Amino acid sequence: VAKGNGGNCYYVYNKALSEKQMENLILINELRQALENNELIMFYQPIIDTVKGQVVGMEALLRWNKPEQGFISPDKFIPLAEETGLIIPIGEWVLKSVCIQNKRWIDRGYNAKRVFVNISARQFQQKDFFEKIITILNETGLDPNYLGLEITETTVVQDIKYTIEILNKLKDIGVSISIDDFGTGYSSFNYLKDMKVDGLKIDRSFIGETNNNCRKRAIAKTIILLAHQLNLTVTAEGVETKEQLEFLKENDCDYVQGYYYSKPISADEFEKFLD
Ligand code: C2E
Ligand code: MG
Ligand code: MG
Ligand code: MG
Repeated sequence: VAKGNGGNCYYVYNKALSEKQMENLILINELRQALENNELIMFYQPIIDTVKGQVVGMEALLRWNKPEQGFISPDKFIPLAEETGLIIPIGEWVLKSVCIQNKRWIDRGYNAKRVFVNISARQFQQKDFFEKIITILNETGLDPNYLGLEITETTVVQDIKYTIEILNKLKDIGVSISIDDFGTGYSSFNYLKDMKVDGLKIDRSFIGETNNNCRKRAIAKTIILLAHQLNLTVTAEGVETKEQLEFLKENDCDYVQGYYYSKPISADEFEKFLD
């Protein structure tokens, strides 16, 4: 087809692209309204200590409850929000609502736990990111020792000098930092030598089917060793089976997160889980 009538082909290709762009434009507009219409909500997934078997923290995960469509995965709309800059107001809303929720749990007498929030690159690179964190902590009254941030390797290496400065300031006030999806990004170990991060999160692509994939197991084991050699804690994501949990326990992984214990759940359900 391409050889016979290249012009047409090009036209078709273009049209397909613009349809996708149209779809994205609509989605972005709806997302902008979603923020105003309270269609965004936070879910929480417990993080469990492999030795004690207890909940030690939770990861906050964004959900878009779209009318007539139900919950839309953040993988579908976070990249678009990043591209358009909508991630800035959304990210601020996420931080605020998560801090409010955790403060509420603490005030209600639940054992205080650290809540981890995913921060996208564009959000982290904002000049006033640190000041915004301070403002939100002050406004919500959450103790910084009960807040953690998850950033990716790709975010960290964008401007190493700036990142080190911000991470140091966050650490000084008690906010914890984890490197998310470790091993899938720009795995330059170089940054790890200068950066005050507290933990690594092993991406779930290294955890799934670990029982029958030697190479994945080898990578997961090595990340655990690397973390411990650097005095960092290590959390495995996407733990779905007892076998995976046993493997991680045997290899001294500190924390796990995954469907084996619980899917991400609403704040109300999470409260029942804590009870
Ligand atoms: P992530 O931070 O790596 O989050 C872990 C993802 O793994 C979540 O997907 C979670 O629901 C999923 N997961 C947890 N346990 C299991 C398991 O046992 N099996 C399987 N198959 N999956 C599991 P989710 O909630 O769809 O989020 C996808 C990504 O979207 C997140 O990956 C994060 O990068 C991003 N994201 C989510 N919430 C936010 C947010 O508030 N702000 C920003 N900037 N990004 C967010
Ligand atoms: Mg995460
Ligand atoms: Mg992750
Ligand atoms: Mg991930």
